[in-house]
Amino acid sequence: MIDLHTHSTVSDGSDPPHRIPELAAEAGCSAVALTDHDSLAGLPEARRRAAELGLTLVPGCEVSCRWAGTGGMHVLVYFVEDDGGPLPSELARLRADRLARNLRLAERLGELGLPLTYADVVAEAGGEEAGVGRPHFAAALVAAGAADSIQDAFDRYLGDGRPGYVPKARLEPGDVARLATASGGVAVLAHPFSLGLTGRELAEAVSELADSGFSGIEAYYGRYSPDQRRQLVDLAAREGLVATGGSDYHGTVKPDLAVGTGRGDLSVPDRVLPQLEGRRPA
Ligand code: AMP
Ligand code: FE
Ligand code: FE
Ligand code: ZN
Repeated sequence: MIDLHTHSTVSDGSDPPHRIPELAAEAGCSAVALTDHDSLAGLPEARRRAAELGLTLVPGCEVSCRWAGTGGMHVLVYFVEDDGGPLPSELARLRADRLARNLRLAERLGELGLPLTYADVVAEAGGEEAGVGRPHFAAALVAAGAADSIQDAFDRYLGDGRPGYVPKARLEPGDVARLATASGGVAVLAHPFSLGLTGRELAEAVSELADSGFSGIEAYYGRYSPDQRRQLVDLAAREGLVATGGSDYHGTVKPDLAVGTGRGDLSVPDRVLPQLEGRRPA
């Protein structure tokens, strides 16, 4: 069993990077990928601990892409290290833009008369300025009494098209595939049903991704039913893509998901890793 999708405190997970291989070993995994949002910064720490435990650490990250529909498109990248290559440089640019967006967003909410400061938001992210995202703004709005719940904060202020929405830089999915390849890695569509498409539309979108250099789609996903996983395994096979999988572990942020086993019924086969490695550029 392996797990190719986990998050640490480097992005929006609640466990430090070294805990991910520990939890994977406890679950009985032979390999685990750390896939923090837009960052490779947790990999050295995770790799050291994985080596001590005799477990394979697969370097990874998860990149948010431009996508016209609902839900957004997340792309997992594997086998890329933080070595200043084309993808790592682009990730640094995305993080800088996120920081600038967060400052503008705090300003915008102030202009809307909402009782919250940038410092409140950073505190919601455990003092980690680089890790701040809209969910932390939402939590700060709830704490300030300006929204009833995280979802209410998005519906009223933070969601796309709402009065507090401030856009940030995003890559096209094809750009991520190109940068991943140029950096020696592979690109995989994360949690495909998040795209909010019908079966036919999804098949079309996945076919386009395959043409633009994607290597796989995430089929064995923590929150998918056995039937949904089967549909995605079939779709991957039809498009000549690798059916990958992982829990999307975030620690206490998504308490229903465990490393390796997801909600208890996940078991990504070991063979997926060599299949994915076989797609790396020569
Ligand atoms: P950011 O990357 O800082 O723009 O934040 C994106 C995150 O905000 C997503 O990963 C979701 O967790 C959350 N999010 C975005 N839009 C919504 C929405 N309409 N309702 C609830 N959560 C949302
Ligand atoms: Fe996340
Ligand atoms: Fe995701
Ligand atoms: Zn994720």
